[in-house]
Amino acid sequence: MKETNMSDITAQLNATPVVSDLKSLREVTWFNHGVKPVSEGLQQVGLTREEAEDAERRLQRFAPFIAQAFPETAPAGGMIESDMIAIPRMQEKLAERAAISGALWLKKDSHLPISGSIKARGGIYDVLAHAEKLALGAGIIRAGDDYRVFHTPAFRRFFSRYKIAVGSTGNLGLSIGIMGAALGFHVTVHMSSDARQWKKEKLRAHGVEVIEYAEDYGMAVAQGRRAAEADPACFFIDDENSRTLFLGYSVAGLRLHRQMQQKGLTVDAQHPLFVYLPCGVGGGPGGVAFGLKLVFGDNVHCFFAEPTHSPCMTLGMSTGLHDAVSVQDIGIDNKTAADGLAVGRASGFVGRAMLPLTDGCYTLSDRTMYDLLAMLDRSENIQLEPSALAGMAGPWRVSASPDYQHLHGLTPEVMRRATHLVWATGGGMVPDTEMRLYLEKGKH
Ligand SMILES: *Cc1c(COP(=O)(O)O)cnc(C)c1O
Repeated sequence: MKETNMSDITAQLNATPVVSDLKSLREVTWFNHGVKPVSEGLQQVGLTREEAEDAERRLQRFAPFIAQAFPETAPAGGMIESDMIAIPRMQEKLAERAAISGALWLKKDSHLPISGSIKARGGIYDVLAHAEKLALGAGIIRAGDDYRVFHTPAFRRFFSRYKIAVGSTGNLGLSIGIMGAALGFHVTVHMSSDARQWKKEKLRAHGVEVIEYAEDYGMAVAQGRRAAEADPACFFIDDENSRTLFLGYSVAGLRLHRQMQQKGLTVDAQHPLFVYLPCGVGGGPGGVAFGLKLVFGDNVHCFFAEPTHSPCMTLGMSTGLHDAVSVQDIGIDNKTAADGLAVGRASGFVGRAMLPLTDGCYTLSDRTMYDLLAMLDRSENIQLEPSALAGMAGPWRVSASPDYQHLHGLTPEVMRRATHLVWATGGGMVPDTEMRLYLEKGKH
């Protein structure tokens, strides 16, 4: 829906107070006054609980294959899942700067097996869904079969006739490339200029074709899309619009419900859950938030976190312009050290679908991300990549806004019983030499 005309866009930008702060690269918090109860909001997503549960079942069918192809997942039966842990020492450090009401937890998607980021959910799921469709279509599997057959030379020969293409800033390419290559696909990853060298090298070592661009993520996606359109055997994984990716991410929400029960954590009106999700184009955080809303309803409050130089979702949601506006349109350069978050234009699908279910968006500087990165290393001995720290500023923002708490009927007593879950989205596979450079950049 990019036909919104220029004067409408200008008028809308001028009418949205947060835009001038975004332009000046200040760290901002935007609370969404249009947030809806799930009874209304979920209908607007256009996807159902049934579809999210179907995605979970598909991952279960593939689990025996994954356990064989990626032995590191065997102890978990081929489930690609991460732990959530309390980080009380980090909470103490954060509280030295500003109080946080409730308990601080970390969701370690940074340490998901296979590709070490949140993309090991959506990206891998999209590849598996495509492979299953091809195999069913060709009649080489039937419902109820043992999916370990996907780990055989005959299946790899079958998939070698097909191609997969994707545009990426790095982590999505890693997830799709590694899983695609394991199944036998010819995978081409169109990488934006900000992608790290080690990610490109790792992919090439897996036999994945990497094409590098001097431009940003939007251009890498556009090029990938164009190359794939010219080839009927090529499947393009569309990070900007894919419902399949979104559903793959949403499974995290369904599983978190069980995980919190196992940890003895309650989520209800008296024990709210706040979740802070680093946001690039929006599919990852949007899909996870959708899954969380399905299971926790109005008792989960979701926030999207972005770099001050790439606030595409904050801009799109706050103005209601979604993908009709880019950060470049307001004079911002979309340059950030946060891999995966250097996105100038948000997904129009995710922005529109999730606007009624999102409590807010906020931005933070690369400087803050590096400081938080070093702080987490010192306090908890956990190492993440800069983007994965974007969520860590969220508990401050919520705790510092009595207006927001009041709007949602969150009294101080209720806030003291809250769980703040920071979604750590990447960093588990960063080489030591790179990690040392990250750590040196943070003040501690
Ligand atoms: C991709 C990515 C995100 C955000 O996901 P989107 O779907 O692009 O919004 C967050 N953190 C990391 C480390 C990522 O790689």
